[in-house]
Amino acid sequence: MTLAADHRELPVLKERGQHEVFCGLTGIVWLHRKIQNAFFLVVGSRTCAHLIQSAAGVMIFAEPRFATAILEEKDLAGLADANEELDRVVSRLLARRPEIELLFLVGSCPSEVIKLDLSKTAERLSASHPGTRVLSYSGSGIETTFTQGEDACLAAMVRGATGAPTDANELCVVGALPDVVEDQFQRVFERLEIPVRFLPARRDAGATVAPGTRYLLAQPFLTETARALGERGATRIPAPFPFGVEGTRGWLSAGAAAFGVSDERVEAVVAPAEARARKALERMRERLGGKKIFFFPDSQLEVPLARFLHREVGMELTEVGTPYLHREHLDHELPMLPESVRLSEGQDVERQLDRLRADDPDLVVCGLGLANPLEAEGRRTKWSIELVFTPVHGYEQAADLAELFARPLVRAERLAV
Ligand code: SF4
Repeated sequence: MTLAADHRELPVLKERGQHEVFCGLTGIVWLHRKIQNAFFLVVGSRTCAHLIQSAAGVMIFAEPRFATAILEEKDLAGLADANEELDRVVSRLLARRPEIELLFLVGSCPSEVIKLDLSKTAERLSASHPGTRVLSYSGSGIETTFTQGEDACLAAMVRGATGAPTDANELCVVGALPDVVEDQFQRVFERLEIPVRFLPARRDAGATVAPGTRYLLAQPFLTETARALGERGATRIPAPFPFGVEGTRGWLSAGAAAFGVSDERVEAVVAPAEARARKALERMRERLGGKKIFFFPDSQLEVPLARFLHREVGMELTEVGTPYLHREHLDHELPMLPESVRLSEGQDVERQLDRLRADDPDLVVCGLGLANPLEAEGRRTKWSIELVFTPVHGYEQAADLAELFARPLVRAERLAV
């Protein structure tokens, strides 16, 4: 455990110990809904299949767009050629589902342990199935936490694209957003007369990102994707993340400024939505103001969310833990945190639990694994995973985002009456 200073001298507690988070396979749950011409084939074990199935809930579609190719014991023991098996599974799948234009082979702990090189497999399968682009990335619990799966997937899309280049004069918004949020942002950018496209798109055409493209990150956990975009000659527009009124305004204004649109024009376009969001947040401030909150490191959304909860609804921050603190991507966020906050990066869960008990906050944001024991201790918890399953970006969702944190407190108050 070491203490290091960030650029504004806010100390950061760095920890490298046991951590309790979901693996990157979880991202398939929202990515398969978003990219409608894609299919996600996990190359993994029965445990992986169960995780995906239970995280996705009961499938109501006759033809789901994800599945698990189960590595049997003979594969794991090296007795069978897993590559041959995989070729057979993919051929069967694509014969039955010719509408699949993009197939992801998603690595897992077992496929990593037996050192299955899925990038080579993807290349081979792309060549033998010309109607389908095959890409690969890792969602394994050894390499990824639950939001890093999306990062790995988008980075693979950027690096694996071979189609015609995109238009460098379009703003690119990077990060999977629920369709309703994407539509709202699309309308705002249209009114600002900024041409925009989204990565991932609802139908991916395999277009190559044009050099000179400027992009806004919609999610703070897209480190590898940003690196891949940089390799293609694209540049990030520095901005806060679009959570709450302040974050959304800063994000839109940064995009607008990069495209030569004045802040007065932004003001004219967003004023009604901002006024509605502020009003809705007033009610939330009554419920959440002064309440203490503690974040376990889980989603990498922690810093922007803490900034929003502190500045827009008056919550008191105790510890804000994040699995990885990307200073550059958080360059607009960190200066907005109060001096009193304890920032931590990485995790040593036992030590962190000790600090939690000493802080005794009103609300704890954590993964499912920690939530149950903490509830049993009489603490109120919020599952961090809900934050990526729920539309939370932008003005229209600002109060809904605060509401997610208010709900466990209201429930506790009701039970106490
Ligand atoms: S990838 Fe690893 S951590 Fe994730 S479900 Fe499969 S075995 Fe478990």
